Amino acid sequence: MLRLTLAGTDTLVTTPLCAACHHSPAGCCAAPPRVALADLARIVLRGGRDFLLAELRAGRLLPGPGNMWLVLPRRPHPSGVLACGYLGPSGCVLPPDRRSSTCNIYICDEALARDDDPATASRTRTVRDDLETELAHLDAELAARAAAHFPSGPPLDAPFLDWLGDTFRTLPPKR
Ligand code: SF4
Ligand code: SF4
Repeated sequence: MLRLTLAGTDTLVTTPLCAACHHSPAGCCAAPPRVALADLARIVLRGGRDFLLAELRAGRLLPGPGNMWLVLPRRPHPSGVLACGYLGPSGCVLPPDRRSSTCNIYICDEALARDDDPATASRTRTVRDDLETELAHLDAELAARAAAHFPSGPPLDAPFLDWLGDTFRTLPPKR
């Protein structure tokens, strides 16, 4: 049932098991992740700079502390729970290249254990864990460079997002 699409930081994991999530009618989207600097950079490199600025202006994304990450605000969902504002009646309304990597790769161990293909589930767990480590490394690098480049705190504007995308492209992979 698992579908694992390997594509570096654009890797995507999907499974229909999440439609019957035992934790919440809104699944993981009841507790949306932050959109970290590495996520912002990836979205910019996929052509989403103006999308981010428009969503910030509309209040569908909110700045986190120091502008070092963004918040996905929760709103009432038709299922009756509070959930990410991008969760529609049939799932996330954003394409994968406009979401955080966590939205694209996270799948809980319980869902992995329920999958009918243990080999793919095991491979997915490894990919998920490795990518989370890699993204944490990239995010820390970006945060350090942003703090040095913008000592008063990075502005959430077009030049900063362009700088973020360009800097992300030059980061060395984790050793
Ligand atoms: S990953 Fe797990 S907790 Fe998240 S929606 Fe799927 S089944 Fe639910
Ligand atoms: S952006 Fe989409 S996948 Fe991520 S928490 Fe919001 S609704 Fe869920």
